[in-house]
Amino acid sequence: MNHISYAYGQNHFALDDDLQIILQHYWPEFAAHKKELIEFGAYAGRDIYETVYHVDHDARPILMTHDLDGNRIDRVRLSPAHRAVLQNTAHINRPPYEGGSWHHHFALGYLIGDPGMYCILTITGQTAYAIHKYAPEFNQIKEQLLRGDAYGATWMTESQGGSDLGANTAIAFPDGDHWRLTADKYFASGAGLTDYAITTARPHGAKAGPKGLALFLLPRVNKEGQLNFHIRRLKDKSATRSVPSGEAELNQSEAYLIGEAEKGIYYTLENLTVSRLANAIGAMGTARKAHLEVLGRVQRRQAFGSLLLEHPLIRRDLTDLAVRLAGGLALSFHAIEKFDKAWEARPPYTSAYHYARFLTHVAKNKTANHASVMTAMAMELFGGLGFLEEYAVAHWHREALITPIWEGPSNIQALDFLETINKQRAHESYLTEFIPLLEQVGTRHAKIAKETIESSLQKLASLSPQQAQWHAKHVLDQIADATQVALLYALAHSGNTRYEKLAELYATHFILHEEYPDWALQDQAIWGAGIDA
Ligand SMILES: Cc1cc2nc3c(=O)[nH]c(=O)nc-3n(C[C@H](O)[C@H](O)[C@H](O)COP(=O)(O)OP(=O)(O)OC[C@H]3O[C@@H](n4cnc5c(N)ncnc54)[C@H](O)[C@@H]3O)c2cc1C
Repeated sequence: MNHISYAYGQNHFALDDDLQIILQHYWPEFAAHKKELIEFGAYAGRDIYETVYHVDHDARPILMTHDLDGNRIDRVRLSPAHRAVLQNTAHINRPPYEGGSWHHHFALGYLIGDPGMYCILTITGQTAYAIHKYAPEFNQIKEQLLRGDAYGATWMTESQGGSDLGANTAIAFPDGDHWRLTADKYFASGAGLTDYAITTARPHGAKAGPKGLALFLLPRVNKEGQLNFHIRRLKDKSATRSVPSGEAELNQSEAYLIGEAEKGIYYTLENLTVSRLANAIGAMGTARKAHLEVLGRVQRRQAFGSLLLEHPLIRRDLTDLAVRLAGGLALSFHAIEKFDKAWEARPPYTSAYHYARFLTHVAKNKTANHASVMTAMAMELFGGLGFLEEYAVAHWHREALITPIWEGPSNIQALDFLETINKQRAHESYLTEFIPLLEQVGTRHAKIAKETIESSLQKLASLSPQQAQWHAKHVLDQIADATQVALLYALAHSGNTRYEKLAELYATHFILHEEYPDWALQDQAIWGAGIDA
């Protein structure tokens, strides 16, 4: 593997100053977990890194529909290395349920980085989450999921609508102590692996639209020990191959109601908040893997008589990667911090929960963009080799391209963000936190960020509903950029002046839309963090 990758074999935690500083800033128990993170960083840089490449290129999950005796099984066959990584990482879902925090879970998710591998863990964690909060009668199943003895899944999308969940045609009929579901779940990640899925369906007679949907727990095997649903096929995907995604056919399948039927859409959207945070952290984890590949490349490749890293434009590109990486990671952990404090709230929720959701849309959307741009830039910085599937770097761009799509594309993030403003007034908590922070910093760039926040939100408030939708994505982006400037300044406050410079660079490029200032050309602490002096 070290012939095809510069990142392979390195400790992905020990090398990551941004991660360590951000965890130190947000997570009071960070020091107590540092040893574990160092060990996990070594595992992520070696076994996980090699396995995700191997699965992507040579060992995709294969659907086996029948066993030797002719019984229908619909199970996927995984390579032994794939199975081993899943077993060795199952524990990352445990901390929030054992008195720990979401920072812990997401720090480990970031180190995994690969969206496919992390997806299996995320959907298993989301299933445990739904049981933990709303169906404690299934706590034994939750324990199996958290131990890695069972896999979960979140099956909502149908062929006629992923964003538009209200278009679900899945139907549920009561049958004694359980329900019978008939549905065609068209994008079912974890297909063939899942032991318990959570899935949306409309109880017979319930109202149309999203509010009529209930959430159910769907076991792979029913009470009689028979296969409870079929997997029609696995999708042929351009990336995320380490998670099998397929089509699930439910035909009178046995299922159990989670919580109250009328609140199903709330539970579903709450569950989506968890996966959107995972998406944000996975996007930045993916981007960081590509960045590590680039740092190796620019120190070795020569062009026009000098190493790549000696050329001003290469330093400019490295600056761009460093700015996006620090900003995106800080934004993700800020949203995680707010979620960690608010996640126990239940419908109709608290203002702290709505604020966490507001920040989750901001983070999900922007980090997906950072990851897509950064991984494409990483390929370009490898020149022709970057385009070859033979080397590790190309893999990361293909992986990054899922992050803007699943868990809701950018338009959906913008519309949901708008909803947190119009219905929940979540922007008020945001203004209360960020305006004083930027005023206290007081630099020219902090003022620009503050003005951006005020003017963009004021403008949104002045628009008709149609116009507000038209502008929502732009405002979401502006808020994301101004937030990252503020958070980078906040990191500088804890004593690291590198982040003050990163804040200025971020504001210059993303808010003023000017080129990075040329003082950064000589600032190796910015563009060359991780490169030996
Ligand atoms: C690899 C992979 C794995 C997946 N795994 C799962 C899974 O396990 N479980 C699951 O439930 N789903 C899963 N999905 C589905 C995924 O979540 C959906 O594809 C995604 O949410 C988008 O839904 P859609 O495909 O129906 O697109 P659509 O909803 O048809 O959207 C198409 C486009 O229209 C835009 N759009 C939609 N509505 C509006 C509007 N009102 N205004 C403006 N623009 C709009 C969207 O932003 C998007 O760009 C998976 C998808 C992929 C690719």
